[in-house]
Amino acid sequence: MDDCIFCRIIKKEIPARILHEDEDFLVILDAFPSGLGHTLILPKRHIPDILALDGAELERLAPLIKETAGRLKDALGFDGLNVLQNNGPAAGQTVFHLHAHLIPRWEGDRVNVKWPVKKDLRDEEIDEFVRKVKF
Ligand code: AMP
Ligand code: ZN
Repeated sequence: MDDCIFCRIIKKEIPARILHEDEDFLVILDAFPSGLGHTLILPKRHIPDILALDGAELERLAPLIKETAGRLKDALGFDGLNVLQNNGPAAGQTVFHLHAHLIPRWEGDRVNVKWPVKKDLRDEEIDEFVRKVKF
């Protein structure tokens, strides 16, 4: 993907602060971070979002998230950590190459990952949704 910024980072066409690289993944610092240590984990294979991730990739990604989280904790001693991952513009995705954010958090920081609570969902629509999706 020539016009994908993360593919270009993976190909070393543009610089990034790399924390870890292996055959399948790159772990880099976010260039526009919420704070020190805001980290991105990306597969080297260009896939747009979570729905395109295959099971084997997920099996490798999960321990990498945990390993990275531990190293961030050791280095920063943060108070909390958000692990999040945006899929689609409506969800705030701006780079359409799958990535997970690791966002170190400190008490009283003003990073905002909260949502307004929707209070007008009807019980029937929730029940119908559960019937549709339950597996
Ligand atoms: P998202 O909104 O979930 O798609 O996140 C994309 C993230 O990529 C944002 O947090 C950006 O700050 C980050 N980003 C954009 N360009 C670069 C870059 N060249 N190097 C590192 N991070 C970047
Ligand atoms: Zn890409």
